[in-house]
Amino acid sequence: MTLRSTGLSHDEIITTLQQMKDNDVRWRDGRAFTLAYSAGDEVLAVAEEAYRAFASENALNTDAFPSLRVIQAQVVEIVIDWLQGDSSAAGFMTSGGTESILLAVKASRERGKKERGITQPNVVLPTSAHAAFEKACYYFGLESRRVAVSEDWRANPEAMAAAVDDNTVLLVGSAPQYPQGVVDPIEAIAAIAAERDINCHVDGCMGGVSLTYLKRLGYSIPAWNFEVPGVTSISVDLHKYGYTAKGASVIAWRNKKLRSYQTYVTDNWLGGMYGSSGILGTKGGGSMAAAWAVMNFLGDDGYMRVTLAARLAAEELVTGLLARPQLQLVAAPDSTLVSFRAADPSTLDVFAIADGLWKRGWYLDRQGPPPALHCTVNAIHEGKIAPFLADLDTVLDELSGSATTGTQGAYGTIE
Ligand SMILES: *Cc1c(COP(=O)(O)O)cnc(C)c1O
Repeated sequence: MTLRSTGLSHDEIITTLQQMKDNDVRWRDGRAFTLAYSAGDEVLAVAEEAYRAFASENALNTDAFPSLRVIQAQVVEIVIDWLQGDSSAAGFMTSGGTESILLAVKASRERGKKERGITQPNVVLPTSAHAAFEKACYYFGLESRRVAVSEDWRANPEAMAAAVDDNTVLLVGSAPQYPQGVVDPIEAIAAIAAERDINCHVDGCMGGVSLTYLKRLGYSIPAWNFEVPGVTSISVDLHKYGYTAKGASVIAWRNKKLRSYQTYVTDNWLGGMYGSSGILGTKGGGSMAAAWAVMNFLGDDGYMRVTLAARLAAEELVTGLLARPQLQLVAAPDSTLVSFRAADPSTLDVFAIADGLWKRGWYLDRQGPPPALHCTVNAIHEGKIAPFLADLDTVLDELSGSATTGTQGAYGTIE
């Protein structure tokens, strides 16, 4: 298609865009158990208004936009406080979990090269660690050494230790890992890294906010953040359980020396000194302002409230799943991620359940191995679990004895 010769009106544009959304999952109504998060319309409104106010501002150079320097500094400081970092900790806002992870891997490679002369670096990580680590290894030329998880889906530190060699520059643990929602034994993983004085990244993209508040709500959460010696960096996605607009994550470092391997500076072109904190050049201010806005709108007590709402909804979902003999919980969730599978995969295809639910407007992640469905339960699901379970029963009835197979689907697509 070519661009229309004359433009549409403002109203026509907005109406057309809204119509394009007609077939999208209705996440604002709690119909999405992945990809989108909501703590209600008031929070969304604050995020969207703040985003609009900074949509075209550029954090590439905060000399011109001191507002964004303050916004970034305050957001990062709050996250470091959540993570029990001390006054030497430092970080940056990034565009998302993937950018935070890319930077953690790139910085480990740089440190290994500079401090030890490592030219064939490898990363030792459990099979459960996010696909973004695979992407990072591919982009930056590191070997990904995946180590099988234990029976309980948690990383196996002994097996990880055995996979480490003199070229290892990074160990990874997740809090929690995405597929089964369990927290890895971070203390044991970080101890292996500390012994060799190499980086240990904790992927708190999912749990950075919720584990912090679940602990304060009295839930038993194993140590996973900067409290643990040997943890060198942590990623926290604000655009997940921080309930802010898309495009906001934080990469936090134990100290500025470790962080220095993340940034990039060059003057080898005709445009002068060019420095950037992350992968991006131009860095939109909208997602940064929205993060600041939502954090200050919710406040500490707001995060207590929305985290509890998400956790109670997850517990209600778990109870509902356990009551249905055709289904099996994959693991007891440590936070708010719930994954389940067919009790007997030879008679019930779990992806057919996902197809049936999507026909009724519910969108779940399909994953494997092993084939399972995944629910990222968040605050918007308060009051939505009962109608979800009712539709789940309808789908299970339809599938009973039918041998219907479903479509596998993907966590992310390339179109
Ligand atoms: C979402 C997620 C990521 C990747 O973050 P994006 O924001 O999608 O780039 C990494 N790790 C975990 C555990 C996640 O849940």
